[in-house]
Amino acid sequence: MTKNKKLTTSWGAPVGDNQNSMTAGSRGPTLIQDVHLLEKLAHFNRERVPERVVHAKGAGAHGYFEVTNDVTKYTKAKFLSDVGKRTPLFARFSTVAGENGSADSVRDPRGFAVKFYTEDGNYDLVGNNTPVFFIRDAIKFPDFIHTQKRHPQTHLKNPNAVWDFWSLSPESLHQVTILMSDRGIPATYRHMHGFGSHTFKWVNEDGDGVWVKYHFKTEQGIKNLTEEVGTRIAGENPDYHTEDLFNAIENGDFPAWKVYVQIMPLEDANTYRFDPFDVTKTWSQKDYPLVEVGRMVLDKNPENYFAEVEQATFSPGTLVPGIDVSPDKMLQGRLFAYADAHRYRVGANHNALPINRPKNEVNNYQRDGQMRFDHNGGGSTYYEPNSLNGPSESSEDKQAAFPVSGVAESVSYDHNDHYTQAGDLYRLLSKDERERLVKNIVGAMEPVESEEIKLRQIGHFYKADPEYGTRIADSLGLKVPEEVK
Ligand code: NDP
Repeated sequence: MTKNKKLTTSWGAPVGDNQNSMTAGSRGPTLIQDVHLLEKLAHFNRERVPERVVHAKGAGAHGYFEVTNDVTKYTKAKFLSDVGKRTPLFARFSTVAGENGSADSVRDPRGFAVKFYTEDGNYDLVGNNTPVFFIRDAIKFPDFIHTQKRHPQTHLKNPNAVWDFWSLSPESLHQVTILMSDRGIPATYRHMHGFGSHTFKWVNEDGDGVWVKYHFKTEQGIKNLTEEVGTRIAGENPDYHTEDLFNAIENGDFPAWKVYVQIMPLEDANTYRFDPFDVTKTWSQKDYPLVEVGRMVLDKNPENYFAEVEQATFSPGTLVPGIDVSPDKMLQGRLFAYADAHRYRVGANHNALPINRPKNEVNNYQRDGQMRFDHNGGGSTYYEPNSLNGPSESSEDKQAAFPVSGVAESVSYDHNDHYTQAGDLYRLLSKDERERLVKNIVGAMEPVESEEIKLRQIGHFYKADPEYGTRIADSLGLKVPEEVK
């Protein structure tokens, strides 16, 4: 018979008793010298790191990306350099507004974040299951998320705040329409598409760039839950999507996505009918068709949820040579906010944790900081410039230069048509899909107390498509405001 390993304290000493604390006799008070008890209670108090302010509830898995089409004329990113090449990755899916223990099957966008461990460092694509977003300037993000969270007094969700903000931010209309459509509650994390959402820039070996948008198309097919089924499952099994992903992978039913990009020549950005950097808009696939890039497969569950899923830190600024950002104002804000959130949440050395550590060698002059648990560079050169052959920059990896122009001021996008694309989406839905869309919106707007807010929002739906606005007004027992017509 094999003997159990000895239980030890966190400093490695064998524990004599893990069931009874040390007391002054069987009825006496507990002794403070029972340091094993103190350490056990103190560590337990510190088990949680702050949950993510958004995307707190999530599930993740390991897998790989395989290139299936030659895109080297567009990007020099090494992980995209050869057809057939595989790159390991870690993906995390999440809801946005709920807390860490909230239900999975709610109406909410889903986070769709992928960390590619490339030979040139990590590349994070931190998108959603929707191609657009509610707002297009990061300065509105904290206010927007406040409306999705809880009321400061009642600690309840607040539909008044949600629709007040949306009705005063008409750029949200496109995303609101997607959210309220059938795709607003995916059946599982496996049955939804993923999007980079923002516009990014790809740059090739010659330094020539193109604008790109990423699409991950589910190979499992799109499947959704109706409002009624989603609500029921939220009560019966709040961890429904988390369980589904884990079990599918455990059973060898590996979910996969085909990865495409839309490609826009740089100069088109000046003339395209929508601002291509406005994250509330898509690029029509008729104008910029999908170009195949590869395939993402998830084939391995995490061994430890906290170490891998909770401590995974994604940031849209985690880029590799060949992939740059665009002037999308929402993306620009996220470049700061995501890495900053992780420094606060996980620590300054979050990139050194096993799940976040690049698989290639990291050589830089960053040292020390809380929880520096690796060798901290040992005795190697710790400053630059130096005459000690320390790691040095490689000018061929410099970001491609790009022109900027304009007068610096706090200014909106030039394009303010928030209605055409939301209307296009409404018009492409089938009769039944439209019916469910209207029903979902009406159900969500009914609890709003202010008629003014409802009428303002009805005006937006009407401007997207008169039928869309009229049906919602009728179902709410209201009239489309005359000035909108
Ligand atoms: P296309 O007809 O070429 O493409 C329509 C797109 O709409 C497809 O990607 C389709 O995805 C998607 N779609 C269908 N139903 C829904 C839904 N309920 N929620 C979200 N997406 C859905 O048209 P355009 O490219 O000209 O775009 C027309 C409208 O389609 C846009 O205004 C936008 O609202 C929506 N859309 C556009 C996307 C784009 O990148 N151009 C991406 C997603 C939506 P699928 O192939 O899986 O059915």
